[in-house]
Amino acid sequence: QRVGFALVGLGHLTLEEILPGFAHCKKSKPVALVSGDPDKMSKVARQYGIKPENCYSYETYDKLKDNPEVEVIYIVLPNSMHAEYTVRGAKAGKHILCEKPMANSAKECRQMIEACEKAGKKLMIAYRIQYEPLNRQVFELVRNKTYGKVKWIEAVNTQNQVHDDQWRHKKTLAGGGALPDIGLYCLNTTRYLLGEEPTEVSASIYSTPGDARFAEVEENVSFTLRFPSGIIANCATGYGTYNAKRYRVYAEAGWIDMDPGFAYHGLKMTRAHAPNGHEVKEQPTVPDKSQFALEMDHMAECVRENKTPYTPGEEGLQDQLIMEAIYKSARDNRPVKLPAVSKLDAFR
Ligand code: NAD
Repeated sequence: QRVGFALVGLGHLTLEEILPGFAHCKKSKPVALVSGDPDKMSKVARQYGIKPENCYSYETYDKLKDNPEVEVIYIVLPNSMHAEYTVRGAKAGKHILCEKPMANSAKECRQMIEACEKAGKKLMIAYRIQYEPLNRQVFELVRNKTYGKVKWIEAVNTQNQVHDDQWRHKKTLAGGGALPDIGLYCLNTTRYLLGEEPTEVSASIYSTPGDARFAEVEENVSFTLRFPSGIIANCATGYGTYNAKRYRVYAEAGWIDMDPGFAYHGLKMTRAHAPNGHEVKEQPTVPDKSQFALEMDHMAECVRENKTPYTPGEEGLQDQLIMEAIYKSARDNRPVKLPAVSKLDAFR
């Protein structure tokens, strides 16, 4: 029996990636929708075979508790709404899959974790990269030290964000600019690959003066993470330049490049090493799978088999704490120390 999902928010991500992604799922199915736009919702419901009585508004959202077909609520709303809808969803007795960034503050992240714990429900953050096969291959190469010890990582995630008066440019709704939206991929993927937590961050921020897109949220953030083993990650994110969604891992005897590494589709790995003194470059391929399908099926499996998700709420909280340190470092113009944390690997 597939696990039934309710999708909350019918914006770009839900319509263009998540709902089509269910076609590639083996364990999950869409059974309910929540939206503030009844006309759009009834069209989408017809398209995906969702019953009219399983369509809810934000006001009737809590009634999901009386719908046994819904086991997981997938929250795909502006960032500032993640905490409220997670807490209400957990109170309605449902497991929660929440889009990234988890929330706009560590305080909200803690409330979300507590609410799900109290309700005895699972909380997973939708870190799709960690369910994607090529990125998982990089993980294996790094963790198995295939090319020796990793010394350095560089990661970049940029896009020229269109100014269309959307929530991403408003601080109260988005929490920040490029950093929580796309810079988070550099941070989260680096932590995922290394299995270590940074102990120090230093950062600088720049926003083009007079550009209305950056009146409330930042444009560019460059940040460096220092890890206990000595590894340094140089990361950069921005809302004002053409798409770049790539990272490269440098190890003693080789490097692994993912370009693009953070896109939805068409990811490409190049790895180089010199086993007999001559450089060999390889480009392994895997079937292009919907990362959203893989991620949703993981959540479904956790529900059916009563397992902790691979990217639980604690992952989102840790990223939020590091992002807060990144902002502090840029504000104070000095490195910021982070508390030593090692527990996150216990989830892996
Ligand atoms: P979007 O603007 O396209 O959709 C947001 C939806 O929320 C819309 O349907 C809108 O009507 C609804 N909404 C409800 N209340 C709102 C309010 N007060 N203000 C604005 N919109 C409101 O956004 P999106 O790109 O679909 O992003 C939604 C979430 O998904 C965000 O948290 C974002 O970070 C995340 N996201 C994740 C990925 C990924 O790759 N995992 C990609 C894109 C977006």
